[in-house]
Amino acid sequence: MRSITTFDLQYAHRFYKFRGEAQYLHGHTGTLSIEVEDSVNEGVNMVYPCNEIQKTAWEVLKNFDHALILREDDPLLPAVLKVYEETGIKDGAPQNTMKGPAFKTELATAYPDCRLVVTKETMTVEGMIKIVYALLHEKLNIAKITFISGCNVACAEFSTRNNIERCPLCGISLDKNGVCSKCGYKK
Ligand SMILES: [Zn+2]
Ligand SMILES: [Zn+2]
Repeated sequence: MRSITTFDLQYAHRFYKFRGEAQYLHGHTGTLSIEVEDSVNEGVNMVYPCNEIQKTAWEVLKNFDHALILREDDPLLPAVLKVYEETGIKDGAPQNTMKGPAFKTELATAYPDCRLVVTKETMTVEGMIKIVYALLHEKLNIAKITFISGCNVACAEFSTRNNIERCPLCGISLDKNGVCSKCGYKK
């Protein structure tokens, strides 16, 4: 069975070198769904608590919300950074508090202080799914990710490992010592 969680992400991007309207900078509210698959955890009668999927995923996803997402070779990137620098917001602002930890994968690097994500490939809906899976597949048994942005929709299915041990009292993953970080249960 699956537990499913959905997020809204507001972001700006463009398709650099694309022949179409999307070569111009524009914004979207994208909707990302993450489906976590496993057996039903008998103790709590859930696959995985959706609020815990939310918490785990949002730690990384909040770096994409109210963010500018540009490809690493896009000349807009140094131009934007120059303006952010000159206006004193490149290295953060007191109001920029919704920040996740910076991350760097093969496909994307997040700079939370200036709400920028730099990607290796063009950030299409397909590209976003690849980025999100790489960031989260070790933490969650992800079976499917769907990303909807405007009239563009993509989804991908993944084979799950199905061997994450979960707390019988609150449902979240146990750490490597068999301890629940939320309620303190020990196997
Ligand atoms: Zn777009
Ligand atoms: Zn627990």
